[in-house]
Amino acid sequence: MIKIILFDIDNTLIDHTAAENKAISWIHDEYFKQSISLIDFHNMWLEKTKKNWRLFEQKKITFTEQQTQRIQDVWKSLGNKVDKKTARNIFDEYLSEYEKAWKTFKGVEDLLSSLENVGILSNGNLAQQLKKLQAANLLKFFDQKNIFTSEEIGIAKPDQKLFSYIKEKLKLKNNEILYVGDKLGYDIKPALKEGWNAIWIDHYNIFRNRNYEKVKNIKELKSLLEKYGNNLFCNNGINSPFINK
Ligand SMILES: [Mg+2]
Repeated sequence: MIKIILFDIDNTLIDHTAAENKAISWIHDEYFKQSISLIDFHNMWLEKTKKNWRLFEQKKITFTEQQTQRIQDVWKSLGNKVDKKTARNIFDEYLSEYEKAWKTFKGVEDLLSSLENVGILSNGNLAQQLKKLQAANLLKFFDQKNIFTSEEIGIAKPDQKLFSYIKEKLKLKNNEILYVGDKLGYDIKPALKEGWNAIWIDHYNIFRNRNYEKVKNIKELKSLLEKYGNNLFCNNGINSPFINK
């Protein structure tokens, strides 16, 4: 019996990639239009983002340090040097463009309003993720006690310990939790390993793994929940094809 559905945020409920792309284009046009093509800049930005985000997840740097360090790394790669204060200002400009572009995927509000008990499990900074949910008009669907972020807890996905910690917090059994996320390695595999149910969603339809079924949009997710979830939130149990595949 599923008692709660937890969602990842970025690229699961909110189109992080589209917002990020807009903000990257803006910063390229503002600072490096003459010196590097957008595509090269874009790839380099993502590489520096990944590097610094990983350091943040490993608790080697703080959330704000991964932001300023990202700017300093990008500028350095293009032969420029910026001090921390300037990097902070540039990142704030980037952030404002990123935030302006936050949008949910089609059907998210409709889906969430059809579910009884939902929560969030996201790697990231609590304040930013709350702001993001608020901006996308989704915060109203979640009880604060069911919103979990890695930074606040001090453990990040895909660390198995995060999943067992949350199970304890929710006072539920593993098979009473269903997790929906876009990253196989970060979201789906550790959730299934823990004994949770999990549904992999790939809005951009870019990942392949024949051992794991996936849905490609919120509409497919909703039909799947309707198909297998007639017994959601009651005592008959859910006959999900996603249990521990
Ligand atoms: Mg995600």
